[in-house]
Amino acid sequence: MYTGFAMSCLFCKIVEGVVPSAPVYQDDLSYAFADIHPQAPVHILIVPREHIGSIDEAGKDKQALLGHLLWVAAEIARKKNLGSGHRIVVNTSGDGGQTVDHLHLHLLGGRQMTWPPG
Ligand code: 5GP
Ligand code: ZN
Repeated sequence: MYTGFAMSCLFCKIVEGVVPSAPVYQDDLSYAFADIHPQAPVHILIVPREHIGSIDEAGKDKQALLGHLLWVAAEIARKKNLGSGHRIVVNTSGDGGQTVDHLHLHLLGGRQMTWPPG
């Protein structure tokens, strides 16, 4: 069960199942689910089960976990047949456009992406 700050964290509640979500993948370290406001035909969020506020808060001891989250995103892309291309995004803090303060990767695919991003 979550404690402290995590009690008020939306994605901790999603990981715990207190807030419902549409699961895509899960293992002992991570949980992936469909974004509620998809910005592409495939838009999946990948989060660590443990509460980490943002990638800026991930210390050296989280290196393996960060690598695992990237692998999960790539594995989901393979399973979703996104071989023609996709984008993995980590919005961070205010200027980065982060709106939920629990580290998450966006996996976006199924359409042509544009550059630069907004
Ligand atoms: P951020 O803006 O922090 O990078 O991304 C947060 C994402 O969480 C947004 O794409 C938003 O649509 C998604 N989101 C916000 N609330 C919920 C929710 O309750 N359920 C799901 N599945 N996604 C959510
Ligand atoms: Zn959290």
